[in-house]
Amino acid sequence: CGIVAYIGNQEAYPIILKGLQRLEYRGYDSAGVALLDHKLSIYKKKGKVAELEGSLIGKNLHAKSGIGHTRWATHGEPSDRNAHPHQSPSGKLAMVHNGIIENFAPIKKELQNKGYVFESDTDTEVLLYFIEDIYKNDATSLEEAVRIALKRIIGAYVIILMDEAHPDTLIAARKGSPLVIGIGKNEHFLASDASPIIEYTKEVVYINDYEMAIVKPDELILKNPGNERITPFITKLDLEL
Ligand code: GLU
Repeated sequence: CGIVAYIGNQEAYPIILKGLQRLEYRGYDSAGVALLDHKLSIYKKKGKVAELEGSLIGKNLHAKSGIGHTRWATHGEPSDRNAHPHQSPSGKLAMVHNGIIENFAPIKKELQNKGYVFESDTDTEVLLYFIEDIYKNDATSLEEAVRIALKRIIGAYVIILMDEAHPDTLIAARKGSPLVIGIGKNEHFLASDASPIIEYTKEVVYINDYEMAIVKPDELILKNPGNERITPFITKLDLEL
């Protein structure tokens, strides 16, 4: 399972697709991508990355930001429906997740009691709906909503979110699952390990547990759960891939 995301001035889709192929060695059962060009488009499929690619031939995939995912199912069978990215009830947020949300069941129940109807059987969709519910009712920004939601979460995760209302920003967070951010020129690359990134930049930041990243083409902000800024520690990659 793996995650790749891009935000910058290049076409996002080819970078994400190639990145997902580089992460195939980690094992997976489904693959998907969300692209943001004024509107969100989400494509996902059970099976290999090559099958996802084949199903997208002829589509307009133009976008300068996107998030991609290979899934190793933990909650819900491998299927198109359970594949990531997931979309929020308003349709405005998309999210990918690697890991497990252990306490998804009580949160799902609470959301169902509020009237939410779920489209998949995943723990991931519960976290996404939870974040959007907080975003709508109790937070002034998506960043704040993610921070509030994650305080309640037990489990392991790396998540990346896109918001149609803020196309210049990706929000990422991790605990227990890996995340590396590559720093380019007015662009950023996010991935589960450095292998999808190394051909574009040698400067990377390894995100630590409990850190959140607010990623724009020309800016990388790291914060701790107390909403304090952390100085990104830049590592120079010199391994040959
Ligand atoms: N727990 C999530 C799911 O089953 C994510 C699995 C993964 O790490 O790919 O959809």
